[in-house]
Formats: sequence, C-alpha cells, structure tokens
Amino acid sequence: MSNYQPVIGLEIHSELKTQSKMFCDCLNQSGIKGPNVNICPICLGHPGTLPAINRTAVELVVKAGLALNCAIAKSAKFDRKNYFYPDLPKGYQISQYNLPLALGGWLDINGKKIRLTRIHLEEDAGKLIHPKGTSPKNARHSLVDFNRAGVPLMELVTEPDISSGEEAGKFCEELQLILRYLEISEANMEKGQMRCEVNISLRPAEEKKKLGTKVEIKNLNSFRAVRRAIEYEIKRQSDLLESVHKVVHETRGWDEDKQKTFSQRSKEQAQDYRYFPEPDLPPLGNLVEMSGELAKEIPELPLAKRERFVEEYKLPVNDIATLTANKGLADYFEQVVSELDTWLKIKSIKDKDKLVKLTANYLLTELQKLMLSRKTGINKCQISPENFAEFITMIERKEISSSAAQAVLKEMFDTGADPSHVVEEKQLTQVSGRDELSKIVKRVVGENQKSVNDYKAGKGNALQYLVGQTMKASQGKANPEVVREILMEMLR
Ligand code: ADP
Ligand code: MG
Ligand code: ZN
Repeated sequence: MSNYQPVIGLEIHSELKTQSKMFCDCLNQSGIKGPNVNICPICLGHPGTLPAINRTAVELVVKAGLALNCAIAKSAKFDRKNYFYPDLPKGYQISQYNLPLALGGWLDINGKKIRLTRIHLEEDAGKLIHPKGTSPKNARHSLVDFNRAGVPLMELVTEPDISSGEEAGKFCEELQLILRYLEISEANMEKGQMRCEVNISLRPAEEKKKLGTKVEIKNLNSFRAVRRAIEYEIKRQSDLLESVHKVVHETRGWDEDKQKTFSQRSKEQAQDYRYFPEPDLPPLGNLVEMSGELAKEIPELPLAKRERFVEEYKLPVNDIATLTANKGLADYFEQVVSELDTWLKIKSIKDKDKLVKLTANYLLTELQKLMLSRKTGINKCQISPENFAEFITMIERKEISSSAAQAVLKEMFDTGADPSHVVEEKQLTQVSGRDELSKIVKRVVGENQKSVNDYKAGKGNALQYLVGQTMKASQGKANPEVVREILMEMLR
C-alpha cells in the first residue's frame, strides 16, 4: 500500500437556500411532505414554457466563489446538458459548460491549499422512488416526485489535490461550514442538501506527474461515508494494482450496510451530453459589478475566526472549534464577552480571561444542553448577552453555587428574565454564612453516622459524600467550600 499515493478530487453539489426554484416561481423547500406539491409547467418541462433566471441563485454562487478565492467570470452562460432519465422531465438539464460563474480558487485544509477547478450553477433533477417489496404491484413500477426538479444547485469541482479520506472529509466539513456562514446552503449531507462524489486513483509513490485510472464513488450520505469509502477504495485499488496491475474505470456506489463500494457502471465510453448554449436564456452579464457589491457582504470566514479567537481569547482549540462551528454561537459568545466589561467594572473583578473561559464553558455545556433539550438553536435564545454576562459574574463571585446556576440558567432561558431577579425570586443566593451552614452540617452529620465513621477511619470519599448531602439539604444553596471546611473542623 505504501507503494501507492492516493489521488483524490471531489465534485460537490449543494442545494441553494433560495425562496424559489432556479427558473420558475415554485417554492424551493427542502424536506417538504407529499410528492409533486411544488411544481409548474416550467419545472415539468412542458413544451412552450420559458425559464427565467433566479438572480439570488446567481448571487449565492458568486458569493461562494468570492469566499473560496475564485476568479469570478466577467460573463457566463447556461448550457443544455442532454440525457434521458425519468427524473429529468425536459430531457436536458440546464447547467454551465465552458463558461462557469467561478474559476480557480482554493480552500485551506490544515494549512494545505486544495485547489478548486470551478464552481457553476445548475438545476437539480426530481427524485425517483422505488417501492420496496416483492408483490407484483410494488415491483413493477417506480414513482417520480418533481418537488426537487429545478431547485438551484451549485456544483464545485476540485483539482485532484486531496490525498486521504481524512483530508476529503475535512474538506467537506469546512465547505459546509463556509456555506452555512454565508447562508448559501444548509448543506446537510444526510438530507441530500450537500452531495459529494469522490474521484479516486492511485499512482506509484515515485510517479509525480502521470495520474492513474480513476474510479468515481457516488451516494455518500455523510462525512463518515466519504472518509470510509475512500479508505476502502484505497485498499481495493492497491490490491488490484498489486495483483492484476489494472483498475477498471467505472462508477461505484457506497453500500452503507456492508461498508463497501460496489460497481455501478463502467465508464469505458464517455457519455456524450451534446452540450449546447441554452437558447431560452440570456448570457449572464454584469458579474463584475455584482461581485463588487457582494464582496462587501462576505462575513469573517471560519478559518479567520478560529485564528482570531486563538489570539484574542486564548481558549483551548477544541472549544474554539466548537464555538465557531456555529456562527450564531460564536457571535453570541463575542457579544457576551463585550458585555462582561461593564460587569467587571461594577463588581470590580480583575481577571477577565478567567471569565471569558467560564463564558465559553457555560455556552458549550449548560446552554448547549438546554438548547438540545428544548430542540432550539442560539438564534431563539431569549437570554440577552448582558444578562448572560451578569450571570457569569455571579458564578465567579460565588453569589450562586454551580447547581443553583443551572436552575438560574434554565429560568433565564425559558423566560428571558435577568439573573438577579431569578435568584431573588427563587431564593437561590448562595449561603456562605458559617452559622447558618453549621446548623445544616450538624444535622447531616447526625443523620449519616456511618459516613462519619468511614471518614474518621481514613476514607476520604466519605467527606465528599457528606458535602453532597449538605448541598442537598440546603437545596443547592450552600457554598460547598465553606461546607467542606466546617465538616473538617467538626470531624477532627
Ligand atoms: P470527468 O470528465 O470524468 O468528470 P473530470 O476531469 O471532469 O472527469 O474530473 C472530475 C473530478 O475528478 C475532478 O475533481 C478531478 O480533480 C478528479 N480527477 C480527474 N482525474 C483524476 C484522477 N486520475 N484521479 C483522481 N481524481 C481525478
Ligand atoms: Mg464529472
Ligand atoms: Zn416550477
């Protein structure tokens, strides 16, 4: 295996997040229930109908091109790609052949520039449904759903610069993140909003120029499948090269159950699509002006954000990766951090870095847990950044215990209330007074004689248990550090 170097190029389709379809007014809805709801004579390819270009779709692809360092074409056009398939009502797909919207460019993956060949705009086809089952009724027909026919699709093609399954997986993940930052596409692979085809060949390790025979792998529905299929294929192809010295040029599918690729069709003769310019659509002009305007709308991209966060917040890289994996969460984090300044002043707290860390921790654990349990996202979070910042300083100043903090956060999340009100209303202020706590500790000690004996016999864990029982008895309000001190004195 080490005798061969894997050479991998990707072709990635992403469904664009537009209101309407590419060439008609039908709604572009992902995951709609019921077949053939969003259809019209245009996307059904009825004779005599005329397409019209969805400007937003063009803009989204230009944006993607700008974000990925491409050269935006001065002018571009649409072409017809002719082939027959039952999910393609017109008998051709409107795509772009020799004048795509964006050329060149690259995406940085772990410091390596993966070059892009091009990005173009086209329309999606419908979906065929093959009812399962052996009854003649089911086995003899397929169904077709045109909801997806004519949905705008961006196709990105890379140069064969990728050299492992891991690198290909990372590429797809980073592209997904960029498309989400730019609000170009939801790009969810499981939902088919982003579809990745892998082209892979092996070449002898000493060979630097000539490429080997490639195989194309389709139906990869997750990042994991991309990685696994490539790993499988590297092994399969190197075994072939070692034994029969030849790989067949073909399209293979990925069998998720068997975790194997399987032959779908041979590519010995290239299919002729008879491309020709789409006569019903004007060329795309004014792209220079358009891209000039759109360049102003490109936000800070994930890589730049991660690098800046490392510099500014000195958080662990994993925390930064998780924070920036969701632009909304990263933005919220920064709003909270900027509100922290006011509270630091009010409560004369010095160590800002510590509070920044605490903020990140609470966002990544407790808040994430709440959002998950409420099935909602950061954009629906009712807690104002100012309140969140105050909440963090309350934890730092030990005004609330960490268990009370959870209750406070929950209440803030559900009602948007500010933390000092919640604490007051629910009487959650942390109790640090020794007199008050001593009473509770005394009771707990009386009720847990066995643990007391264990502790005196040298079992350190017993003390932790008694602290826990005291916390419980105080309904989470006791300051655990003070409780521990009192216990140690009492049991000396
Ligand atoms: P096709 O005409 O078969 O679609 P293209 O030349 O358009 O092939 O390339 C499609 C994809 O395959 C691109 O991502 C490209 O980088 C990649 N590719 C081309 N040749 C090879 C090869 N020998 N090994 C691996 N990937 C390749
Ligand atoms: Mg191809
Ligand atoms: Zn339509």
